[in-house]
Amino acid sequence: MHSLHCKLSNSLWQALEAKHHATGDSLNHIVAQALSDYLQVEHSTLFQVSTTGALVEGLYQGEVSIGDLKQHGDFGLGTFNNLDGEMVALEGKFYQARADSELHEVGNDVLSPFAVVTHFVPEIKVELTDCQNLETLMVTIDRMRCSENIFFAIRVDGEFDYVRTRVVCKQQEGVRLVDATATQAEFEFHNVTGTLVGFWTPEYVKSINVPGYHLHFLTLDRRVGGHLLDCRAKRLRIQMQHEGNFRMSLPETSGFLQADFTIDTSAELLKAEK
Ligand code: ZN
Repeated sequence: MHSLHCKLSNSLWQALEAKHHATGDSLNHIVAQALSDYLQVEHSTLFQVSTTGALVEGLYQGEVSIGDLKQHGDFGLGTFNNLDGEMVALEGKFYQARADSELHEVGNDVLSPFAVVTHFVPEIKVELTDCQNLETLMVTIDRMRCSENIFFAIRVDGEFDYVRTRVVCKQQEGVRLVDATATQAEFEFHNVTGTLVGFWTPEYVKSINVPGYHLHFLTLDRRVGGHLLDCRAKRLRIQMQHEGNFRMSLPETSGFLQADFTIDTSAELLKAEK
């Protein structure tokens, strides 16, 4: 994040304050939003590549590169072609956690079959003490959310007493996600400083994204990461941004074009993700 210091005329300052009082939005948020509009940078926009429905069906070949994703966000998660590990993006850097859970920064030409990214500009910050497990964390973030019907981007930083993750392993195209995740590697970490990156997604989009919380973890030293299954911490800093815009890029691969997505696979997705 960067700080901006600038001089404003009285009238502009008064208009800014009036907007702040009328909407309750922070000055940071109003200025960032106005600048985003003027400079035509997407804000509060979730950019998604393909659908979880396609992953459930075993379609693991994407055409969108990390370089393309960087045009749409500096923060997010996903996976790589052939389901080769977990993707986590933070502060503009994109990382891959492979089957051994070791983290590597990935190049711009690497391809992804599924990803969700945004330009992260947090609007709400909350400290959580004595986080017993993932359930405690989710209940806390539930209270921070103003709606069940829009998306939220979530960042959680802290020293974790315990973190449990999983990493998907490289698969052949066509192996259904539920079978692919049945052989996933799980990892436990104790006393690690790190960050959770992810989203809360409304129930009504369950055929294209993971409803509820979907968080990936990476350590501060960027050595390990994965898809979060559980965590415990004495103190966490939670930051959240609402996402009122949603953009999707659909693959034009033959696999995607020919697939049958008429069957509800949300139960299979739930089993694979949780
Ligand atoms: Zn995940």
